[in-house]
Amino acid sequence: MVWNKKVRDLMPEQLQKAESRARDPRQNGGNVFLGKKEALLDVANFDFNTFLAVDVNPADFYKKVRELVWHCKTNGVTDSFSCKSRYGYTGHRVIDVGEFSMTEVDHRTHMAFCPLGPPVSDVVFSVKDGKLNYSVGEDDIKACEGIGNNGWGDSNIYIENRKLNKSTFLGDLMVHLLEAHDFCEGQGTRFRFDPLYNLYVLGMIKPETYESFRAERERLYNPGLA
Ligand SMILES: [Zn+2]
Repeated sequence: MVWNKKVRDLMPEQLQKAESRARDPRQNGGNVFLGKKEALLDVANFDFNTFLAVDVNPADFYKKVRELVWHCKTNGVTDSFSCKSRYGYTGHRVIDVGEFSMTEVDHRTHMAFCPLGPPVSDVVFSVKDGKLNYSVGEDDIKACEGIGNNGWGDSNIYIENRKLNKSTFLGDLMVHLLEAHDFCEGQGTRFRFDPLYNLYVLGMIKPETYESFRAERERLYNPGLA
Protein backbone atom coordinates (compact mmCIF):
# COMPACT_ATOMS: atom_id res chain seq x y z
CA MET A 1 0.00 0.00 0.00
CA VAL A 2 1.42 3.34 -1.05
CA TRP A 3 -0.13 6.49 0.29
CA ASN A 4 0.38 9.44 -2.00
CA LYS A 5 -2.66 11.55 -1.38
CA LYS A 6 -3.10 14.86 -3.14
CA VAL A 7 -3.81 17.72 -0.76
CA ARG A 8 -7.20 18.12 -2.40
CA ASP A 9 -8.10 14.49 -1.55
CA LEU A 10 -7.35 14.67 2.15
CA MET A 11 -10.10 14.18 4.73
CA PRO A 12 -10.69 17.13 7.11
CA GLU A 13 -8.82 15.49 9.99
CA GLN A 14 -5.85 14.70 7.75
CA LEU A 15 -5.84 18.26 6.44
CA GLN A 16 -5.78 19.68 9.92
CA LYS A 17 -2.77 17.59 10.96
CA ALA A 18 -0.91 18.20 7.69
CA GLU A 19 -1.46 21.94 8.20
CA SER A 20 0.04 21.91 11.64
CA ARG A 21 3.04 19.92 10.39
CA ALA A 22 3.51 22.32 7.47
CA ARG A 23 3.71 25.15 10.03
CA ASP A 24 6.14 23.32 12.31
CA PRO A 25 9.79 24.31 11.72
CA ARG A 26 10.96 21.01 13.26
CA GLN A 27 9.29 19.15 10.40
CA ASN A 28 10.68 21.40 7.72
CA GLY A 29 14.37 21.82 8.42
CA GLY A 30 13.86 25.07 10.34
CA ASN A 31 11.38 26.65 7.93
CA VAL A 32 7.62 26.67 7.56
CA PHE A 33 5.79 25.56 4.43
CA LEU A 34 2.50 27.24 5.26
CA GLY A 35 1.60 30.63 6.74
CA LYS A 36 -0.33 30.84 10.02
CA LYS A 37 -3.52 32.11 8.44
CA GLU A 38 -3.66 30.21 5.18
CA ALA A 39 -5.45 26.92 4.64
CA LEU A 40 -3.67 24.05 2.91
CA LEU A 41 -6.72 23.34 0.80
CA ASP A 42 -6.96 26.97 -0.39
CA VAL A 43 -3.32 26.88 -1.49
CA ALA A 44 -3.83 23.63 -3.40
CA ASN A 45 -7.00 24.87 -5.11
CA PHE A 46 -5.39 28.16 -6.01
CA ASP A 47 -2.41 26.42 -7.63
CA PHE A 48 -4.64 23.91 -9.39
CA ASN A 49 -6.55 26.78 -10.93
CA THR A 50 -3.32 28.39 -12.11
CA PHE A 51 -2.46 25.30 -14.17
CA LEU A 52 -5.98 25.32 -15.63
CA ALA A 53 -5.77 29.03 -16.45
CA VAL A 54 -2.51 28.77 -18.39
CA ASP A 55 -3.46 25.39 -19.86
CA VAL A 56 -0.45 23.38 -18.71
CA ASN A 57 -0.69 19.83 -17.43
CA PRO A 58 0.84 19.89 -13.92
CA ALA A 59 2.48 16.51 -14.63
CA ASP A 60 4.58 18.12 -17.40
CA PHE A 61 5.73 20.82 -14.99
CA TYR A 62 6.61 18.28 -12.30
CA LYS A 63 8.55 16.20 -14.81
CA LYS A 64 10.62 19.20 -15.88
CA VAL A 65 11.40 20.07 -12.25
CA ARG A 66 12.36 16.46 -11.57
CA GLU A 67 14.70 16.31 -14.59
CA LEU A 68 16.49 19.56 -13.70
CA VAL A 69 16.91 18.57 -10.06
CA TRP A 70 18.16 15.15 -11.17
CA HIS A 71 20.81 16.71 -13.43
CA CYS A 72 21.91 19.05 -10.69
CA LYS A 73 22.16 16.40 -7.99
CA THR A 74 23.68 13.72 -10.22
CA ASN A 75 26.27 15.80 -12.00
CA GLY A 76 26.86 18.47 -9.42
CA VAL A 77 28.64 16.63 -6.59
CA THR A 78 28.23 19.86 -4.78
CA ASP A 79 28.65 19.36 -1.10
CA SER A 80 31.75 21.15 0.09
CA PHE A 81 33.33 18.02 1.58
CA SER A 82 33.29 15.93 -1.56
CA CYS A 83 34.12 18.92 -3.76
CA LYS A 84 37.25 19.49 -1.75
CA SER A 85 38.39 15.89 -1.72
CA ARG A 86 37.59 15.22 -5.37
CA TYR A 87 38.29 18.51 -7.04
CA GLY A 88 40.58 20.26 -4.63
CA TYR A 89 38.31 23.18 -3.92
CA THR A 90 35.45 23.95 -1.61
CA GLY A 91 32.29 25.07 -3.30
CA HIS A 92 29.47 24.16 -5.59
CA ARG A 93 29.74 23.22 -9.21
CA VAL A 94 27.48 24.90 -11.71
CA ILE A 95 25.73 22.52 -14.09
CA ASP A 96 24.53 23.70 -17.49
CA VAL A 97 21.63 21.93 -19.19
CA GLY A 98 20.24 23.67 -22.27
CA GLU A 99 19.47 27.27 -21.34
CA PHE A 100 19.60 26.47 -17.62
CA SER A 101 22.46 26.88 -15.18
CA MET A 102 22.01 25.18 -11.84
CA THR A 103 23.84 24.81 -8.60
CA GLU A 104 23.06 22.85 -5.49
CA VAL A 105 23.74 24.52 -2.15
CA ASP A 106 23.21 23.87 1.55
CA HIS A 107 23.83 20.19 0.93
CA ARG A 108 23.27 18.11 4.09
CA THR A 109 22.87 21.22 6.22
CA HIS A 110 19.30 20.33 7.16
CA MET A 111 16.62 17.66 6.97
CA ALA A 112 13.14 18.64 5.82
CA PHE A 113 10.28 16.14 5.86
CA CYS A 114 7.02 16.04 3.97
CA PRO A 115 4.24 17.59 6.08
CA LEU A 116 1.80 14.93 4.87
CA GLY A 117 4.09 12.24 6.24
CA PRO A 118 4.44 11.25 9.87
CA PRO A 119 5.50 14.00 12.29
CA VAL A 120 9.26 13.89 12.73
CA SER A 121 8.86 14.12 16.48
CA ASP A 122 7.22 10.71 16.22
CA VAL A 123 9.76 8.99 13.96
CA VAL A 124 12.28 6.65 15.56
CA PHE A 125 15.45 6.05 13.57
CA SER A 126 17.73 3.08 14.06
CA VAL A 127 20.71 1.64 12.24
CA LYS A 128 20.99 -2.09 11.68
CA ASP A 129 23.73 -3.71 9.59
CA GLY A 130 24.68 -0.29 8.24
CA LYS A 131 21.13 0.35 7.01
CA LEU A 132 18.94 3.16 8.29
CA ASN A 133 15.56 1.97 9.52
CA TYR A 134 12.72 3.95 10.98
CA SER A 135 9.36 3.45 12.55
CA VAL A 136 6.51 5.93 12.90
CA GLY A 137 4.13 6.55 15.76
CA GLU A 138 0.36 6.56 16.03
CA ASP A 139 -0.02 10.05 14.63
CA ASP A 140 0.70 9.10 11.02
CA ILE A 141 -2.21 10.39 8.89
CA LYS A 142 -1.60 7.78 6.19
CA ALA A 143 -1.42 10.35 3.42
CA CYS A 144 2.23 9.86 2.45
CA GLU A 145 4.85 7.17 2.57
CA GLY A 146 7.09 9.97 3.79
CA ILE A 147 10.68 8.96 4.31
CA GLY A 148 10.08 5.71 2.43
CA ASN A 149 9.00 7.59 -0.69
CA ASN A 150 11.64 10.33 -0.92
CA GLY A 151 9.48 12.43 1.37
CA TRP A 152 12.49 14.25 2.75
CA GLY A 153 15.11 16.65 1.46
CA ASP A 154 18.51 17.95 2.49
CA SER A 155 19.64 20.52 -0.05
CA ASN A 156 18.53 23.54 -2.05
CA ILE A 157 18.93 24.28 -5.72
CA TYR A 158 19.25 27.47 -7.71
CA ILE A 159 18.15 27.40 -11.34
CA GLU A 160 18.85 30.24 -13.73
CA ASN A 161 17.31 30.55 -17.17
CA ARG A 162 20.12 32.29 -19.04
CA LYS A 163 17.93 33.09 -22.02
CA LEU A 164 15.40 34.95 -19.85
CA ASN A 165 17.93 36.15 -17.27
CA LYS A 166 15.54 34.94 -14.54
CA SER A 167 16.22 32.55 -11.72
CA THR A 168 14.41 30.44 -9.20
CA PHE A 169 15.19 28.55 -6.02
CA LEU A 170 13.81 25.33 -4.60
CA GLY A 171 14.36 22.83 -1.86
CA ASP A 172 15.00 19.35 -3.27
CA LEU A 173 11.96 18.13 -1.31
CA MET A 174 9.81 20.02 -3.84
CA VAL A 175 10.03 17.16 -6.35
CA HIS A 176 8.17 14.98 -3.88
CA LEU A 177 5.72 17.66 -2.69
CA LEU A 178 4.72 18.37 -6.28
CA GLU A 179 4.50 14.83 -7.63
CA ALA A 180 2.99 13.14 -4.61
CA HIS A 181 0.72 15.88 -3.28
CA ASP A 182 0.29 18.78 -5.75
CA PHE A 183 1.70 21.00 -3.01
CA CYS A 184 3.75 24.08 -3.98
CA GLU A 185 3.98 25.40 -0.39
CA GLY A 186 2.18 28.37 1.09
CA GLN A 187 2.02 31.85 -0.38
CA GLY A 188 4.68 34.03 1.15
CA THR A 189 6.73 31.23 2.69
CA ARG A 190 10.44 30.99 1.92
CA PHE A 191 10.21 27.82 -0.13
CA ARG A 192 7.03 28.61 -2.03
CA PHE A 193 7.51 27.22 -5.56
CA ASP A 194 4.95 29.35 -7.32
CA PRO A 195 3.63 27.55 -10.41
CA LEU A 196 2.99 30.69 -12.47
CA TYR A 197 6.44 32.20 -11.94
CA ASN A 198 8.22 28.87 -12.28
CA LEU A 199 6.38 27.83 -15.43
CA TYR A 200 7.72 31.08 -16.85
CA VAL A 201 11.31 30.58 -15.61
CA LEU A 202 11.34 26.97 -16.85
CA GLY A 203 10.25 28.16 -20.28
CA MET A 204 6.87 26.41 -20.22
CA ILE A 205 4.72 29.49 -20.71
CA LYS A 206 5.42 32.63 -22.71
CA PRO A 207 6.59 35.80 -20.93
CA GLU A 208 3.42 37.61 -22.06
CA THR A 209 1.25 34.81 -20.61
CA TYR A 210 3.10 35.16 -17.33
CA GLU A 211 2.68 38.93 -17.27
CA SER A 212 -1.03 38.90 -18.07
CA PHE A 213 -1.91 36.20 -15.53
CA ARG A 214 0.27 37.76 -12.88
CA ALA A 215 -1.58 41.06 -13.14
CA GLU A 216 -4.93 39.27 -13.02
CA ARG A 217 -3.91 37.19 -10.03
CA GLU A 218 -2.70 40.12 -8.01
CA ARG A 219 -6.05 41.74 -8.57
CA LEU A 220 -7.88 38.64 -7.28
CA TYR A 221 -5.65 37.48 -4.50
CA ASN A 222 -3.72 39.25 -1.83
CA PRO A 223 -1.54 36.81 0.11
CA GLY A 224 -0.71 38.77 3.28
CA LEU A 225 -0.86 35.42 5.03
CA ALA A 226 2.55 34.82 6.56
ZN1 LIG B 1 4.69 13.31 1.11
